[in-house]
Formats: sequence, structure tokens, C-alpha cells
Amino acid sequence: MEMEAGSCPAGGGSVEWVGMNAGESLQKNPLVPDSGRYWCYRCKAHNGFDHTIKKTWRARSNDTYEKMSCVRCQASMFNPAKVRPVMYVFLGITLVALLFALALWRDYEDYVAGCLGFAAFFGLIGFMKLYYMTLWLLWARRQRVKSAEQLEEEGCKYIVLFEEMRK
Ligand SMILES: [Zn+2]
Repeated sequence: MEMEAGSCPAGGGSVEWVGMNAGESLQKNPLVPDSGRYWCYRCKAHNGFDHTIKKTWRARSNDTYEKMSCVRCQASMFNPAKVRPVMYVFLGITLVALLFALALWRDYEDYVAGCLGFAAFFGLIGFMKLYYMTLWLLWARRQRVKSAEQLEEEGCKYIVLFEEMRK
């Protein structure tokens, strides 16, 4: 296996760093909820992020794995507008798998374990997404009752603290 420039030897050659950009600057108020922007669940803010794309090293595979890590705490950030449909799909599949397990309960016992395993897998991911979406929705609701001036003031304070911390 040949190692190309920019590949990551620490990952045993299985991971290649394709791109790595510095986080975008804080131009907009990070405390105003916007479901189209990436949000950090730990900082509870639309912080800037480091965007990394890793390429999985598999034959004939162009799969890439993206990660947005918060520039402040390095937690993985998520985009509520993008996560919501994925969450519904995962929870939907979980429900269908559970219904299948229930339907097959008596006559096809052999398949029940498989259905339950399927449901557990998709359910785990679906509920994790649900958990993050709930954190986002609670925060967004709390922010929306605040006045524009209040958000502006808190946003400015937040940015000042943020800049100080990065020095
Ligand atoms: Zn953060």
C-alpha cells in the first residue's frame, strides 16, 4: 500500500486526511437559533468549527466521513435541519422492525431476534439523534423568548469571552 502525501500514518493507513480547514469566523450572533447552522450541544451556541473530511480506505470506495468539531470545546457539532429527516428515517425503521418482530412473534420465532437486533441498532442511533435534537429545541425555545436586544448583548459578551479564551 502506498502512502500519499497528507495521509495519516497514525490511523494505520486506513484513514486519509483529505481536507482540513480552519473554523469559519464568528460573524453572526452565535446565540441566535438558526436550524440551518451547525450547533454545539456543549457550548449551546453556533460556534465556528473545524471541518475535517476523512476518507475511508477501501477498494473502490469513495465514502467520506465528515466531522465538524467545535473550535471551543472540540465536541462534534450538528446541523438540526439536516439531522431531523435522518432522525425520522431511523426512528421509522425502528418502528417497522419492532412491528415485524411483533408480527412474527408466534409463527416465525427464528426471525424475531434478527428483527429486534435491527430495531436496537437503528433505535440506538435514532434516539441519540432525538436526544441532540431535544437539546437543540429546548435551547432554541429559550433563546426565542428573549428580546433582540438581549440576544445582541449576550451574543457580544459571548464573542468577547470566546476571543479572550482563544488567546
Ligand atoms: Zn463547543
